[in-house]
Amino acid sequence: MKADEMQAELIITNARVLTMDAAHPRAEAVACAGGRIIAVGGRDLEALAGPQTRVIDAGGRTLLPGFVESHLHLVLGGAELAHLQLGGVHGAGPLTAAFRAYAAANPDKPLLMAQGADYTILDKPVTRHDLDAIIADRPIAMTAPDHHTVWANTAALRAAGLLQGAAMPHGHEVVMAPDGTASGELREFEAFAPVVALGGEARLNLGIATGEEPSPWPSDADMAIDRAKIARGLAHCAAHGITSMVNMDGNRYTLELLAGMRDAGTLTARVKVPFHFKPHMDLAALDRAAQMTRDFNDDWLTCNFVKMFMDGVMDSRTAFMLQDYPGVPGHRAEPLFSAPRFAEIATEVDRRGMQMAVHAIGDGAVRNTIDGYEAARLANGWRDSRHRIEHIELIDRADIARLGTLGIVASVQPPHPPGAMDFPLEPTLTLIGQGRWRDAYLWRTLAEAGAPIAFASDWPVTDVSVLRGLHAALARVPYPGCGDERLDLMASLHGYTAGGAWAAHRDGLTGRLVPGLAADLVLLGGDIEVAALAGLPELGIALTICGGRITHAGPGFAP
Ligand SMILES: [Zn+2]
Repeated sequence: MKADEMQAELIITNARVLTMDAAHPRAEAVACAGGRIIAVGGRDLEALAGPQTRVIDAGGRTLLPGFVESHLHLVLGGAELAHLQLGGVHGAGPLTAAFRAYAAANPDKPLLMAQGADYTILDKPVTRHDLDAIIADRPIAMTAPDHHTVWANTAALRAAGLLQGAAMPHGHEVVMAPDGTASGELREFEAFAPVVALGGEARLNLGIATGEEPSPWPSDADMAIDRAKIARGLAHCAAHGITSMVNMDGNRYTLELLAGMRDAGTLTARVKVPFHFKPHMDLAALDRAAQMTRDFNDDWLTCNFVKMFMDGVMDSRTAFMLQDYPGVPGHRAEPLFSAPRFAEIATEVDRRGMQMAVHAIGDGAVRNTIDGYEAARLANGWRDSRHRIEHIELIDRADIARLGTLGIVASVQPPHPPGAMDFPLEPTLTLIGQGRWRDAYLWRTLAEAGAPIAFASDWPVTDVSVLRGLHAALARVPYPGCGDERLDLMASLHGYTAGGAWAAHRDGLTGRLVPGLAADLVLLGGDIEVAALAGLPELGIALTICGGRITHAGPGFAP
């Protein structure tokens, strides 16, 4: 390398650098140029500074690889930043006050949409009549934190054509009241898609709802509106130190929106976007995944990735279980793909050289998924596939060792266990049943059995804040009679950096602070190794840098 090329553009020094590189785990300074890390070492790196170099004194703060958010929904999260936020709201009085204030502030919105409504928000099953009592003359709706249930008032149901019920694909349901009209509860994406569409965001939901493309293709003006929502989501993620993300819904439209931002220089994170394979599709649909993979394959955008849902969620008893739900004899829910069909799909995806990620929450869904990955391995032989299972909320003991043996990534979310962060203990713990708590939300057990671990938030299902997630991971209290499932600080940080990069096939680009890798960095607001655990959520992000460019600067660090 010539001397002028070696001149650093940016040096961060006097930092507590945690490189996540096992060979050289600690350093004091990192130098970057041309979007790459050019040196990692002691304060003598300051000698690489020239007249044009920005030198940042980190003041002893922790410097890490930029966070990899391994499971999120960027487009939906960005759009939802403009919705009513109900986190922490409980009871009819506060819910009414929140909705009416939001309605007054948004007189023109065709749908008043709220996010983060706990399943227990009214301490009873929510009906359209409960919501009519809040606002009857405009369509209103609210979404559960897990995004698998929406409750709508009568005006919204009527406008969406759902008031008298509607035929739905397997697993999706317009819940009916005894009087033969819709109760107001809508289970799973396709049931609430007509309500969401009232708000003008239907095309943003296709990536998760159907996996299909908007038709007709949106105009440039519509795409600009959608990109503005994504930009808001990206800025939100950058403020939390995130430089790479794995989107967990997708279609070509999602990639086209992001590609426009990449080309305009406004993409502030690397994004992996899957093709969403839905039950109605046949194997030929994978041609579209292959095309997306060919067309989007650079340092910023990749596909080569297929997402599927094997089941629903615990709270609506749509998670597929090996045993009956406690107190509901005969009910185990059903998988969205039978075991033989999934094995066939997994084998074909794997044969085409693509990676898979499958949402599996119940122990039956987890087993189906492992069985399918195993079938793919037997059919195709070993390849560096890094297939993943998302969530793994419940697992049968007999399946734990199979993850490590088959090299299946456990993509798990520290904010998700009830009681760990924002989700209440109930109803989930009762739905799981006390006899199975010891098999629920395992992290350390899976890691010790050899499963590669990636940590994530599932934003907007939970807060995207990595520092809050880290706190949830490190402060989690075992359920009565259960083991300690926490990983230590370094292993937890690994799950949010190098572990996530590996699980996304991005370890040759990001996730560690090593010369030659991308200049993706996050400078925390303090020294995380001396910070009190309780103070982690407020530690703050001083700087986020992606590809050598500052994407977020906290107080005192503005360029
Ligand atoms: Zn998700």
